[in-house]
Amino acid sequence: MNFEESLELLKCQYLQSLPDKNKKITNLWVSLRKNWQEPLLSALHREVHTLKSPCDTFGLTDTKHLVDQLDGDLTRLLNLAPPELNTIKLLDNLFHQLLQSLTRQCTRAQEDAYLHQSAKAKHQYRIAVIEDDANVGTIITKQLHEFGFNVKLFLNFTSFKTEQDKHPFDLILLDLILPDYSEPQLFAAATEFEKANTRVFVLSSRSDFDMRLLAIRANVSEYFVKPAETTLLVRKIHQWLKMSEKQPLKILLVDDQQSMVDYFSKLMQSQGLMVKGMTDPEEVLPTLELFEPDLFIFDLYMPEVNGLELARMIRQLDKYSSSPILILSADDTMQNKVNIIQAGSDDLISKQTEPGLLVTQIISRAQRGQDIRSSACRDSLTGLLNHTQILVAARRCFYLAKKMKTNVCIAMFDLDHFKKVNDTYGHAGGDKVLLAFSHLLQQSLKQTDFVGRYGGEEFMLVLPDITEEQAIKKLNAIRESFSHVVFLEDGINFSVTFSGGLAFASYCNEFQDCLLLSDKNLYEAKRGGRNRLVSHASHAEDPHQK
Ligand code: GH3
Ligand code: MG
Ligand code: MG
Repeated sequence: MNFEESLELLKCQYLQSLPDKNKKITNLWVSLRKNWQEPLLSALHREVHTLKSPCDTFGLTDTKHLVDQLDGDLTRLLNLAPPELNTIKLLDNLFHQLLQSLTRQCTRAQEDAYLHQSAKAKHQYRIAVIEDDANVGTIITKQLHEFGFNVKLFLNFTSFKTEQDKHPFDLILLDLILPDYSEPQLFAAATEFEKANTRVFVLSSRSDFDMRLLAIRANVSEYFVKPAETTLLVRKIHQWLKMSEKQPLKILLVDDQQSMVDYFSKLMQSQGLMVKGMTDPEEVLPTLELFEPDLFIFDLYMPEVNGLELARMIRQLDKYSSSPILILSADDTMQNKVNIIQAGSDDLISKQTEPGLLVTQIISRAQRGQDIRSSACRDSLTGLLNHTQILVAARRCFYLAKKMKTNVCIAMFDLDHFKKVNDTYGHAGGDKVLLAFSHLLQQSLKQTDFVGRYGGEEFMLVLPDITEEQAIKKLNAIRESFSHVVFLEDGINFSVTFSGGLAFASYCNEFQDCLLLSDKNLYEAKRGGRNRLVSHASHAEDPHQK
């Protein structure tokens, strides 16, 4: 583990201790307000003071600002008579802000941990190609490699098996005619691999019914007739490997009783759901942007705002107008159910529902919520974010980078002479290229990056937390790879290139300028001969830069 990783781990551990810290500070402040006593004040001051250095160490700038102010205010009050109401109100406000800020840090830590995990999972996918014809094997391996997969070629089954036993692959492409294993032996082995969660794709020179039936009975995931088309192969690999890379279902829960929030959160978390629980309905709106829940659960009776009012409020937000909302109540009479459905919520669930059943109901509805949300956000051909969503992501990353004083790269890619591809190989041929390109982009990016289809054959990439040098290197590698991908249409091999315009948050003050700049750089790349990236820092022309 290097230094950054150790620091990240420490930060993570520290942030996980924040909810306890939060409670301690709240309790002390509530007691002190009721009964002003020097020992309580010093204890509270100590708690606040100990937040100072971790805030510095882990770069929690916003929280630090509040901690400093509170620390100063409390220090001044030590050894004095109880303060006036005005001062108490000011402190109330500061404590409220501090608690919100600490809660925000916690959520972010949970999400980061999740993203970190899946980014890692994505990188570790390993694919084996088992093919005794070295020429054919090398071509497939090389092509998959261009798409960013981690691929290894084996010329016989024995050598593959030795490695598979030690460190199983995620997916294998299996030729059915091998020197050291017979067909039935290979099918038997394939069945075992599938059982052990290694996907098997058969590559065969036979396309007859009998052979396909044998493959079906062996339970293999896919069957390809040679020569297999790389773009199709890649699409299928994505489909199968994606299955284990599901987003967690995210639930936002509001109940005025902390004990209920704790109980329901624990229950749902134990089933792998990601839960954000809160007692204050006013926190719902500020939470949405970062958390993006798939399902809402609101308590019906709460002192300030009731669950139905909250449900109506959510329904008025375009993005959540069809998200599932469940209302929790101890009172599940018919009249209540009618009211709930009229308010646009999906259903009422009784607080007495048996826990197992409750979670099942929640999961199935949250899954539906996630499907709705993702289909509304994604482009139907490529599955990438659509025009609106990639812009939202880009804008958010841009301003976050400004705030956190980091950098973000916004890149615009456009396929070269794509009209000619359509004219020569048909619209379907063009679509295949678009799909392959989007798979390559997805495969090459981190989980924390964003990629969207900006328009027809134009794509936008957003790479947060990256230096100019790193971004240019990474995107140039993608450009190189793509230019080596060989497409096959009507028996003709061809390849396609793309041009890219890059802009960085560090170059611009406003998001709009960054967008214009990447667009202008893209135009420059086209004008300069295509199949290249341009990353001029300003709108002014600089003929010396490439
Ligand atoms: P340049 O190198 O200057 O970008 O040339 P170009 O031919 O790529 O650019 P132009 O904008 O003239 O043509 C873009 C073509 O992309 C025209 C359009 O038919 C095609 N296109 C847009 N969307 C799709 C799609 O979804 N599928 C297919 N097959 N083609 C598409
Ligand atoms: Mg084009
Ligand atoms: Mg274009």
